[in-house]
Amino acid sequence: MEPLDRFRAAVRIETGWPEAAEPGDSRAEAPLTRFQEFLAESYPVFHKTAERRVLSPYSLIYRWPGVEPDAAKPVLILAHYDVVPVEREKWTADPFGAELRDGYVYGRGTLDMKGILTGIMEGAERLCAEGFKPRRDLWFAFGGDEERAGVFGAKRTAAWFAEEGISFSWILDEGTPIADGMIRGITSPLGLFSIEEKGYMSLDLTVLQKPGHASRPPRIQAAAVLGRALERIVKRPFPFRLTPTVEGFFRDLAPLAPQPMSAFMARARLLGPLFFAAVAGSPDIASMLRTTVAMTQLEGSAADNVMPSEVRAVLNLRLLHPWTIESAIAFIKKAINDEQVAVTVHGLATGPVPANPGHTGHGGPGWQEMVEALETAYPGTPALPFLMVATTDSRHYQELAGKSIFRFSPHKLNPEELARIHGHDERISVENFNRGIRFYEALFTRL
Ligand SMILES: [Zn+2]
Repeated sequence: MEPLDRFRAAVRIETGWPEAAEPGDSRAEAPLTRFQEFLAESYPVFHKTAERRVLSPYSLIYRWPGVEPDAAKPVLILAHYDVVPVEREKWTADPFGAELRDGYVYGRGTLDMKGILTGIMEGAERLCAEGFKPRRDLWFAFGGDEERAGVFGAKRTAAWFAEEGISFSWILDEGTPIADGMIRGITSPLGLFSIEEKGYMSLDLTVLQKPGHASRPPRIQAAAVLGRALERIVKRPFPFRLTPTVEGFFRDLAPLAPQPMSAFMARARLLGPLFFAAVAGSPDIASMLRTTVAMTQLEGSAADNVMPSEVRAVLNLRLLHPWTIESAIAFIKKAINDEQVAVTVHGLATGPVPANPGHTGHGGPGWQEMVEALETAYPGTPALPFLMVATTDSRHYQELAGKSIFRFSPHKLNPEELARIHGHDERISVENFNRGIRFYEALFTRL
């Protein structure tokens, strides 16, 4: 079998159970276990070389032993094999068929992230077959519930590493791609190394009232109180801030941009409020410059003629360093300024993961090796520090590597391809898949 065939076989394993699953739910776990076995069958040389450990259907760990394990701290490569659910009727291809059409493989998880995971395995398999041995220990940790916050997978795996006393020089996880056509006026593709990640928190805002018949509504209604609270949140957004990572991104981008955009980006910090005012109209850029608040769910009565006993809104916040879970809640409560509105955390909240300061200056653990691997797979592509505004499994591992984390996917994607991640007709070009393998192969030989 060829690499592409193995990748397509990986896509055909439906590792996206559509409903919430608890550990022990065999319908959700059987495909995850099947995927773990598939890797063992498909990459036999690597599996002869590396130690494999299965903690659960959600957690698969490998140690690829180095020849000089004491010479350098190990490096950890992360990936996940679960995928998000699909709305089948909105696809033009079978989401689990791995159809090859016009140079693309179609399927859920092709970009996020079986194309990456099999790219890692192909790179390792090839090198093992050639007799290559890394200098230091390389660890791989693959999770089966990243799309559900990694509670049973990444979180548990990270705890296992901590119990075993294993820590890392640096970590590589999925993340931002080689962006093609992301910013108007910039023609060069950009290798976006996300060295910082925003935090994640959902808040429930609830207002209670006496239930009753809609023919006799109270003078002050819970929905109106909630509406006023939401309006106040809109009027009092989180302040803009230029983190060192984002400042570094604009500074590196400046020489690639035409004037006057270039001069403007180079002076972002100096311009301060002027810079923010000019760029914040774009939601993509605004998300890099502040903690964002998305109003995602609203709930009231189940019937049109019944007063609700409770109305609820859910806010999804993405926290920019140095905001914390506590300080962001305090900020929201102050903006609402109304005791009738209860504010509580909903689900798992995680704070932001700031950059290792060494990384923002194009240095620090792993930067050079990452740049060289990028150059091998995508010659002439510049590497820029970047901020991941979404979350990755790597947040669970941050303490194991002193926050030296890269969140990077070695695939060149345009905005149209990016929109297919978690969307319909997700697909990856065969060209990207092959270059991804080259990236990991080049990276591993440098470690
Ligand atoms: Zn992913």
